[in-house]
Amino acid sequence: SSITRGVTVKIPKVSWEDIGGLRDLKKKLQQAVEWPIKHSDTFSRLGISPLRGILLHGPPGCSKTTLAKAAAHATQASLFSLSGADYYSMYVGEGEALLRNTFQKARLAAPSIIFLDEVDGVASKRSGNSSNQVTVEERLLSTLLTEMDGLEEAKGVLVLAATNRPDAIDSALMRPGRFDLVLYVPPPDLEARYEILQVHARKMKVADDVDLQRVAEDTELFTGAELENLCSKAGMLAMRENIFEPIVCDRHFQAARLSSKPALTQQKIE
Ligand code: ATP
Repeated sequence: SSITRGVTVKIPKVSWEDIGGLRDLKKKLQQAVEWPIKHSDTFSRLGISPLRGILLHGPPGCSKTTLAKAAAHATQASLFSLSGADYYSMYVGEGEALLRNTFQKARLAAPSIIFLDEVDGVASKRSGNSSNQVTVEERLLSTLLTEMDGLEEAKGVLVLAATNRPDAIDSALMRPGRFDLVLYVPPPDLEARYEILQVHARKMKVADDVDLQRVAEDTELFTGAELENLCSKAGMLAMRENIFEPIVCDRHFQAARLSSKPALTQQKIE
């Protein structure tokens, strides 16, 4: 039915090791996710409320979605994902119903993680327009606030949200008990790029002449998604030469690099 649109319930296979770089962030996130999910009883015994929401922000393609999957995998939690287009619908009230429904399912399936990608779509700043008309955005935001406040009673449900536009998020979501932890997911530096290339080259047969360190040096401003794409391109070029047993060589990486260009610019990072 339309109400289950966009909702996926499963424990992903992605692990922390599949994510290159971001060592400190992974450590922080690991603790932030594992405590509320695995030790919710300790929280109740101490009379403190566990973390309910974490906001990840940073440029696209830098592993926010992948981090949510790894967090679910590490805690063996079911992952419920919603993103952009799920929030809006032709039918009045369907976006809110989908949100409520997702929270309800997550409570029933606990331990679970609700991943709200492009959360600025549900939680953008209230425009403060003077008309009495309640907008779709306002209804979505108030539904999300109500559901997050309701998690106080729910054990083992954590909301992870992601956005490229943190300044667009309504401040009501940043109050205590909602998104209490805000983490910046940066584009990869040299060391992280090298690790990301290793992650994606692991699955390929790579020739001795390939120097991933040099590829990393040569891919400044590339995001994780773009590095993954570079590896795929190199793999395809190798397949063109030998479809049965492709071996990816330095020249394939070089050709792939020549036909790739990062979308980020230095200004966008600073
Ligand atoms: P968006 O904001 O566009 O949703 P995102 O930040 O959620 O992007 P992901 O969807 O997690 O990014 O990443 C896109 C792809 O890039 C993934 O398939 C993942 O394999 C790869 N990728 C990104 N960052 C890394 C990383 N640090 N290590 C390994 N792979 C990465």
